[in-house]
Amino acid sequence: MLKAIFLNLFFPVNCASCGDYVTLTSEPGVCGECISEIAPIYKCGCRFCGRPVASKVKFCRVCRGQKSYIDDFYTAFYYEGKLRSIIKKYKYGNARYLDKFLSSYLAGLFKKCIPLYKENSIIVPVALHQSKLKQRGFNQSGALAVRLSAALGIKNVPRALKRLRDTEPQYTKNRKERFENIKDAFSARAGLCFGKDIILIDDVSTTGATMQQAAAALKSAGAEKITAITIAHGRLGNMEV
Ligand SMILES: [Zn+2]
Ligand SMILES: [Zn+2]
Repeated sequence: MLKAIFLNLFFPVNCASCGDYVTLTSEPGVCGECISEIAPIYKCGCRFCGRPVASKVKFCRVCRGQKSYIDDFYTAFYYEGKLRSIIKKYKYGNARYLDKFLSSYLAGLFKKCIPLYKENSIIVPVALHQSKLKQRGFNQSGALAVRLSAALGIKNVPRALKRLRDTEPQYTKNRKERFENIKDAFSARAGLCFGKDIILIDDVSTTGATMQQAAAALKSAGAEKITAITIAHGRLGNMEV
């Protein structure tokens, strides 16, 4: 109790969406009103880019005919409205505490959509390059993976994936440039992922370029199955920060 009072006194936060004052200890950094307006879609998406599609449809119109390294791709939200401002604050506004709030929807997505995972399942977050890590202070996908691992009891193995080089931000680029920008940016450690069913975590997917490259590296190191999950799917042209 005393700790809660102390924290609220010295670390007040504003709702990550509307800016109203909320107490960090009683709310997850988003006010109740905003939470009530957030409706997850919890859908299986296009196997290549994650865009939500009708059930039984495997690829969206844009990705049809593409070779996908991802076996299943799920997303919790569209990257728009309140969710968009919350994710922006989490990623670029140093609001690390939002990992709890956001990962609760990843756990919800799991419970609703994802069939029983096997004993050889591991969670792997998309890796950030060292220089981005320094600049941002934390790996936003890594923090979500830690929370999800605790909620589901599946081992989190961030070291399975390695970022080989720093890349320019994807949101400044068109579809073709995104694939070029991220090409061969990852490698995977076979000792950690050989024969594993991997639950690959990222915050937002748009064209699927980053997730595909990460999945390709994991599969070439012997991963058996890749289930990609993201908090939100964004439309190209709507991704500027
Ligand atoms: Zn609010
Ligand atoms: Zn697609």
